[in-house]
Amino acid sequence: MAISLAEKAKELGLKYFLISYTDLFGSQRAKLVPASAIEGMQKNGAGFAGFATWLDLSPADPDMFAMPDPTTLTPLPWKKDVGWLASDIYMDGKRVEQGPRNVLQRVIAQAKAAGVQMKSGVECEFFLTTPDGTAIADSLDTATKPCYDAAALLRRYDVITELCDAMLELGWGAYQNDHEDANGQFEMNWNYADALITADRHVFFKFMAKSIAEKHGLRATFMPKPFLGLTGSGCHAHVSLWNGGTNLFEDDAGVLGVSALGYNFIGGTIEHADALAALLNPTVNSYKRINAPRTTSGATWAPNTVTYSGNNRTHMIRIPEPGRFEMRLADGATNPYLLQAGLLAAGLDGIARKTAPGPRLDINMYTDGHMVKDAKRLPLNLLDALRAFENSPVLAAALGESFVKSYAKLKHAEWNEYAAHLSSWERQATLDC
Ligand SMILES: [Mg+2]
Repeated sequence: MAISLAEKAKELGLKYFLISYTDLFGSQRAKLVPASAIEGMQKNGAGFAGFATWLDLSPADPDMFAMPDPTTLTPLPWKKDVGWLASDIYMDGKRVEQGPRNVLQRVIAQAKAAGVQMKSGVECEFFLTTPDGTAIADSLDTATKPCYDAAALLRRYDVITELCDAMLELGWGAYQNDHEDANGQFEMNWNYADALITADRHVFFKFMAKSIAEKHGLRATFMPKPFLGLTGSGCHAHVSLWNGGTNLFEDDAGVLGVSALGYNFIGGTIEHADALAALLNPTVNSYKRINAPRTTSGATWAPNTVTYSGNNRTHMIRIPEPGRFEMRLADGATNPYLLQAGLLAAGLDGIARKTAPGPRLDINMYTDGHMVKDAKRLPLNLLDALRAFENSPVLAAALGESFVKSYAKLKHAEWNEYAAHLSSWERQATLDC
């Protein structure tokens, strides 16, 4: 074994390990294991009753084991004697096919077989709210255009810098933090990396942001649209494809400095966008962020159509500079592993079939979108996205049929639960029918 966690415990002064995995709904599950027991856990995994989490398992199933990946060991910056670990989940000695981290590794293996590696960076927008989540925490943060507001950012200096210092200490290459376009909304950026590393960091970032906000008496939420009149929380992903040290998306001779291979990848994500929405916009609430009316700041900054552009933020895909593109569809609820897995699967299909992305649009899609008659629309709700997702043979082949089946089953159940609610709007609009 290359890395002994028992040795690491001594070296880093760790008293406990948090052996964690992420379920299909993006929830992080964990066992807190004393350092004295880590050697056995590293060998055999930590046991869980899989049915008790969102994995589409049965209560009759045997124990599920989370096998920690020692390369992910991260001492919690806010509780330094605890070492966090991401895990891969197993049952009966086999990987659980629908485990989100397993799904991503499956697609990464397909990319590797094709001689490519995806690197990505994510921009996780979030709100700092009151502990019950019903209002933004800062009552002075009321500007109509609050983006980059210096005073509102500095009023949250203690939380933001504790998070940023933690990322610096962990070597993620944190480089900027700002107040975003909605009151109470922030974004913190760190460097892009291999897709699996970024997904693990994304999971950890959400856990850390929530934990540190809570320590300060606040709540960090990544909910896509917590306040209807305000800009929602996106999770933009910046994507490039590499072979060793060569960025395969970069081409000086290509349009906007992007290679033919890059455009094929973009073409794949455009072709599969409606199915991808089930992963990138996985909640009922997600569809209040995309396809949304203008917010008080003047724009939603979220896409309405399946279109791409140059350095223009009103489309689903933006090419801000040579060698990469930004997918702006995903939101704060996306499962970090499934976001990367979905993008890579769609992109690889685009490359395999040399899919053309169609014409680039350089218009302001918010004001002039009606002039484009044939622009493909995004799904209007989770049900439409799920139907596209479960009818995509390409995604089923890449992500695994049992994953697609399990994910669609649980998400349909969530939709049905939502649909069974009688809302106050519904009563008001229908009572006198
Ligand atoms: Mg942003």
